[in-house]
Amino acid sequence: MENVIIIRYAEIHLKGKNRGYFERVFANNLEKAMKGIRHEIHRTSGRYLIADFNESMTEEIMRRVSRVFGVHSYSSGLLTENDEDSIYHAAKLVAPESGTFKVETHRGDKRYPLTSMEISARIGGRLLSERPSLRVDVHSPEHTVYVDVRESGKALVFGSFCDGLHGMPVSTAGKGLLLISGGIDSPVAGYMMAKRGLTVEMLHFHSYPYTNEGAKEKVVSLAKILSEYSLTTRITTVSVTHIQEEIHKKCAAELNVTLLRRFMYRIAERIATREGAGCLVTGESLGQVASQTLEGLTSSNAVVKLPVLRPLIGFDKEDIIAIAKKIGTYETSVLPYEDCCTVFLPDFPAIKPKLSFIEEEESKLDVKALVEEALSTRECIRF
Ligand code: ATP
Ligand code: MG
Repeated sequence: MENVIIIRYAEIHLKGKNRGYFERVFANNLEKAMKGIRHEIHRTSGRYLIADFNESMTEEIMRRVSRVFGVHSYSSGLLTENDEDSIYHAAKLVAPESGTFKVETHRGDKRYPLTSMEISARIGGRLLSERPSLRVDVHSPEHTVYVDVRESGKALVFGSFCDGLHGMPVSTAGKGLLLISGGIDSPVAGYMMAKRGLTVEMLHFHSYPYTNEGAKEKVVSLAKILSEYSLTTRITTVSVTHIQEEIHKKCAAELNVTLLRRFMYRIAERIATREGAGCLVTGESLGQVASQTLEGLTSSNAVVKLPVLRPLIGFDKEDIIAIAKKIGTYETSVLPYEDCCTVFLPDFPAIKPKLSFIEEEESKLDVKALVEEALSTRECIRF
């Protein structure tokens, strides 16, 4: 008998002929998520088992599995031989001492000499006779002992199902570059695209020395939390300080943010292309701030060819906050550090900037040189 984590996978079932590919990526992602923990991963029909780990790591493994996209549900359980005595010994470890319970059996191996009902009745009967404080309740028991008789000649015994994150295994949908600020929205946007199978690389713009080390550390912390889901291991940073100074000096103040955004998109596209990413991802949400009006988004889109995915476009702030709390980024996002967008913020940013006006103001800048200069400040932080 050995301790195992049982993992059932989600939407990958639907992928017909590509199933093999999706399963390989999924297994590979599980492997990455277990980095630094001694373990083995085995595949048995429709499930993966994590085995050969130190029992003290059970909770940490469960926590990490809870963050892997593509997991439908998972359980901590026992793998035993499939004879009645072995199953019973495992069931004794899983069953409570008192209260109401039932045994529920699933028989993957249809050649097994007992039916599911017979297995449940026998194991349940033996538990009852040994533990006088237990009572059977087949309709709404406090505890269920699950027995899963596998084709492999083994059985799995466990006490509960934990709901997984569902979604698609990351990397099955290609690669994107997330523009990540220190705010609430962008980490959530990254999470949502990773959930649909995108490998989410990350890019952050800073305005050092106007923004400080604390601001950078905050973004790195956010990136680390997101990476537990996205399984990526680094963040790129680029300075936009000189760009902001130039905009501030030469262009109409109400266009500060709009012009900065266009630089961010241009730089992001260059980095994305270099890294083999096929799209940009942002945390923009329609109408949330002055630069996220239809006109604002259009002016940003106009300077890039890559598609820009904005998974939060139709979300209210409360909905985004709820997800941020669920995925564990909220507490860090609300720490009070300045973002580069708040430096040189005009009192009245243009809400519906006209493209002709934007282009006229932008022509006062050496766009190409500023982009190249910003790219040369690029740094990569690995974690
Ligand atoms: P967030 O919570 O993501 O900061 P926000 O409501 O503050 O969102 P903006 O500051 O207008 O919105 O930014 C919109 C989007 O632009 C962000 O979601 C992010 O994708 C990108 N962005 C903004 N600032 C930065 C930055 N400093 N570095 C990288 N991307 C940024
Ligand atoms: Mg922001």
